[in-house]
Amino acid sequence: MARTPIIGGNWKLNLGRTPARDLLTALRASLDGIAGVEVVVCPPAPWLGDAADILRGSSIGVGAQNVYWQPQGAFTGEVSAALLAGVVDYVIVGHSERRHVFHETAEETNKKLQTVLGLGMQPFFAVGELREERESGRTNDVLKRQLLVGFTDIEPLPEGFVVAYEPVWAIGTGLTATPEIAQQTCADIRAIVAGRYGEATAEACRIQYGGSANAENAGNLMSQPDIDGLLVGGAALQAESFTAICKAAAAATV
Ligand code: PEP
Repeated sequence: MARTPIIGGNWKLNLGRTPARDLLTALRASLDGIAGVEVVVCPPAPWLGDAADILRGSSIGVGAQNVYWQPQGAFTGEVSAALLAGVVDYVIVGHSERRHVFHETAEETNKKLQTVLGLGMQPFFAVGELREERESGRTNDVLKRQLLVGFTDIEPLPEGFVVAYEPVWAIGTGLTATPEIAQQTCADIRAIVAGRYGEATAEACRIQYGGSANAENAGNLMSQPDIDGLLVGGAALQAESFTAICKAAAAATV
């Protein structure tokens, strides 16, 4: 089954308005119309409108980095999926920084996923283990819990759904998982999805790797059979490196 590779750029809490607009303009110039790969950028929330304006009519999608599940009300500082839906088509849900810095639970991640899917947006559903969890042999249990709690009451899983496997020990550390570890863990994730939704859904599910991906390692990671994309943090902040990653991904999967 052919899965369209997908590369997401997670800018996190970086870039003021002018550098953000400059980066969006540069990415439109270098990546619009790229064949064989879906490209999405996720700027900080205040720049989502700028991103949607600058990228309108291009092949580059816009995503939010977070969402709240309530549609409206007395929730100071939160942004609902309903508000995002008019501006973006993608939302990162369950990023490890949300889970570990902001203590977001798997149950909350599930509410966010349900809300995002309910409004027809594409989540990047991020899961990943801590270093001590990998070292003590608990990776599969941790991923299984994050995935299965995240999938509660989600029926069916839409075709082409995106799971982002992001080992926490590899995020922002320069310690990229080896292609072998990334491949094996993405295959394990696909098996968990198959156990929950069946083989056909698992085969159609797109699994990204994230964690210190860069222009040098992107091709090697993307040539692994169960890696269908990359979620990129630091290297998404420069047009040159993000463009090179997207082009390497497109080349690796032809
Ligand atoms: C991320 O934030 O999702 C990420 C993978 O970051 P980095 O590429 O910087 O490790």
